[in-house]
Amino acid sequence: MFINQGRHSGWIEVVCGPMFSGKTEELIRRLRLSLIAKQRVQIFKPVTDNRYSEEHIVSHDDQKFLCTPVSESSEILEKIREHTHVIGVDEAQFFDGEIVDICQVLANRGRRVIVAGLDQDYLGVPFGPIPELMAIAESVLKLKAICMVCGGLATKTQRLTAETKQVLVGAKDHYEARCRACFDPELAVGEDDRPIDTAKNTDSVTRQISG
Ligand SMILES: [Zn+2]
Repeated sequence: MFINQGRHSGWIEVVCGPMFSGKTEELIRRLRLSLIAKQRVQIFKPVTDNRYSEEHIVSHDDQKFLCTPVSESSEILEKIREHTHVIGVDEAQFFDGEIVDICQVLANRGRRVIVAGLDQDYLGVPFGPIPELMAIAESVLKLKAICMVCGGLATKTQRLTAETKQVLVGAKDHYEARCRACFDPELAVGEDDRPIDTAKNTDSVTRQISG
């Protein structure tokens, strides 16, 4: 699984998948192994993720790792310490496109970069910089969750409410992991967002407003 490219060469690993697939747990597992080997580790995440404390990434089994929130991906380069060997990036789908170049620079400088994030948004569309990171990475792991409808392998994140923002932070109750067959992106699109000619009648709009 792990890549042995020798002491002086860095590389990029991507851990992706839908919500509830254990991406953060896998990131933490890899970082923990590095710590056991006395390697120095730094972890970053975008500040938009404020589900938990600002200073930790917390897995669902409550393992905590010190984490530096950054508002732009360029801050990662500024905050890398000289002797850091392994860099973890959590919730990377929320970063701007520059994160791709930054991961390249770090890997070219001999760092091991482990990026975790959602590969698709709630419409099933490739999410932010993750597809490009998957292309340039030495290693990609696509984790699956369990479909909360049928119990099959889930690769999609189903949004249960009609909320048009791509980023709905801190609202896990509004999402389910779903397999391809059970995934229904229409469920996440409000009546108001649909083209006028497909709206059945004005009553449905009225009901939505009053309801
Ligand atoms: Zn299913």
